[in-house]
Amino acid sequence: MRLGFHLSIAGSLLRAVKQAEVLGCQALQIFIQNPRAWKWRPLPRSEIDAFVAARRIAGLGPLAVHLTYLPNLASVDPVLCQKSRERLIQELALARDLEADYLICHPGHAPLETESFQRVARTLAAAVDQIPPPPLVLIENTAGQGQELGWSQEQLGLIMRLAGVPLGLCLDTSHAFGAGYDLRHPAGVARLLGETARGPGLDRIKIIHLNDSRAPLGSRRDRHAHLGQGAIGLKGFRQFFAHPWLRPEAAIMETPKRHQADEWRNLLAARSLITTPALPFSRV
Ligand SMILES: [Zn+2]
Ligand SMILES: [Zn+2]
Repeated sequence: MRLGFHLSIAGSLLRAVKQAEVLGCQALQIFIQNPRAWKWRPLPRSEIDAFVAARRIAGLGPLAVHLTYLPNLASVDPVLCQKSRERLIQELALARDLEADYLICHPGHAPLETESFQRVARTLAAAVDQIPPPPLVLIENTAGQGQELGWSQEQLGLIMRLAGVPLGLCLDTSHAFGAGYDLRHPAGVARLLGETARGPGLDRIKIIHLNDSRAPLGSRRDRHAHLGQGAIGLKGFRQFFAHPWLRPEAAIMETPKRHQADEWRNLLAARSLITTPALPFSRV
């Protein structure tokens, strides 16, 4: 399995590639706009070309783009729903120009009712119809905080069925744990992957977000922790990765960043967990 981090693009996109090279990562996840603002920064062609070339030379893949935080694909407010749809399409188009393999998004916040899932599905279908893969859009499971949708594999499967376009899955370990899937025990892993098989389908899992959790099991809270320093723990992760059904292309860490040493420590921990070889990535 290939390993990587979500890395900052503060300053320039190239920064993330350089940082990934320093760390010796094989995969990379980035935001391509300020994640906490609607304001759009157009990227000059020269910056896009330089990024694509540097990423190829570094042999980084898969390259995942994470949708920024403000769009809410499930919003009950028609204005915000439309704005979110336009933003998704805009980011998907830029991710395509950057030759990203995946664009990862959360289903959104809305009351737990069928119409909410239909809105997410319509938004995703409109975006994918306009910009077919690559990049493939991956829906990420959530911890189910507040009105967050998508904490169960059944819900994610429902969105995919309603959308009726090609979509994949990003499985976040800390979100799954917060949602009540006990990854530390074979029965919890079997429940998660069994529900995935019956819902979205196991072959849809492309990326694992490899994060430990500061929040307890089933707390419906999303608090990432360094690997081995959260409630899942290294023993728990070993149990999780031992399952033969789990065959993602890459595991990407979104662990807290305070010091450079944090990344090295997480990388060492991840390498001790993942014993399957990093298969060549054909698309770079
Ligand atoms: Zn995540
Ligand atoms: Zn999270």
